[in-house]
Amino acid sequence: MHIPYGHQNIDEDDIDSVVQVLRSDYLTTGPKIENFENRIAKYLGVKEAIAVSSGTAALHCVLHAIGIKKGDEVIVPTMTFASTVNAIVFMGALPVFVDVNKRTLLIDIDAVKQNINANTKAIIAVDYAGQPCDYNLLYKLSQQNGIKIIADACHSLGATYHNQNVGQLADLTVFSMHPVKAITSGEGGVITTENTEWAKTIKQFRNNGILSDYHERKRKGSWVYDIVNIGYNYRITDFQCALGISQLHKLSSHIKKRQAIASLYNAAFESCTTISYLDVEKNVSHAYHLYVIRLNEVRDGVDQQELFSRLTNQGIGVNVHYKPVHLHTYYQKHYNTADGMYPVAEKAYKQILSLPIYPTLSENEVEYVITNVLKALESN
Ligand SMILES: *Cc1c(COP(=O)(O)O)cnc(C)c1O
Repeated sequence: MHIPYGHQNIDEDDIDSVVQVLRSDYLTTGPKIENFENRIAKYLGVKEAIAVSSGTAALHCVLHAIGIKKGDEVIVPTMTFASTVNAIVFMGALPVFVDVNKRTLLIDIDAVKQNINANTKAIIAVDYAGQPCDYNLLYKLSQQNGIKIIADACHSLGATYHNQNVGQLADLTVFSMHPVKAITSGEGGVITTENTEWAKTIKQFRNNGILSDYHERKRKGSWVYDIVNIGYNYRITDFQCALGISQLHKLSSHIKKRQAIASLYNAAFESCTTISYLDVEKNVSHAYHLYVIRLNEVRDGVDQQELFSRLTNQGIGVNVHYKPVHLHTYYQKHYNTADGMYPVAEKAYKQILSLPIYPTLSENEVEYVITNVLKALESN
């Protein structure tokens, strides 16, 4: 048996919609892109959605849109995928790491408060594992201090906070459509915002900084275009957007499936004395991109490496999300971070393991994972 930790769910409808675009005139910069953007904006109940080539590109785009520059500080939790922080470095700004809450591994709001100063321009909140951060508290901080809230919602597409969709909760929200995420376009990213100016800026940034698009020039009967600020090629293709449209129909069923799997895991591990799972706050609906278990402090029991090896040997694709970003050599070398600076995240890193969770994971497979986790924990 081989069970990965995450896997896409592609059906014949998905395949047909991609093939249709491959047979059409436009592989890129065609009508599917705006079509996908309109559908996702409608689905999430937001004014603007912009599709780009990846979640990482989306992070770069949002920091550009709010005008982050050299000398600016952006607060970010260290317990995230490295690209959340890398995007701050792309802008020449200073990533200001903060620790996380030990129950949820979400950004520690008190630590955020302590790190706000005159140079702080934004906070990137990461909805770790698929659970939305406390956006009411973050919004208050943004109002008091004139800083922007960015949601790295790469884990939390389809989640809600006080019955409000993720996508509506921050100044700008970033999603990823990598195959392990809630829906996929192969690679891809989406940005949502209520701000039309930012949306316009992002559309230029993803297209090398070009002010008018090819269709606009065609309409005007002109070849003339201008670049005021340079950008990148962060365009997504039409066949990717066709896949995105087709996948969007399945988003809510994907999330329900993930939640059902999480319930099975919770029930199985509830009475276990050697591991626990992360807390879920009231008033959120969790998207369960990850299902994370955590070893309790056991002196003589099975440690993280042993548990990882035993499960891997049984064909179970466990993983650790994440090595805190401040521990990566690049950040230690260039930003003087070191072991010991963010103790909650560092301790969690030595105790957590992500178990398989994805829409096509069968109940039998879930049982197989549960049985093997409990068995692996028993013996020394
Ligand atoms: C997946 C992910 C990203 C990056 O998305 P890509 O589409 O792979 O570039 C950024 N942040 C988090 C938290 C992610 O999980």
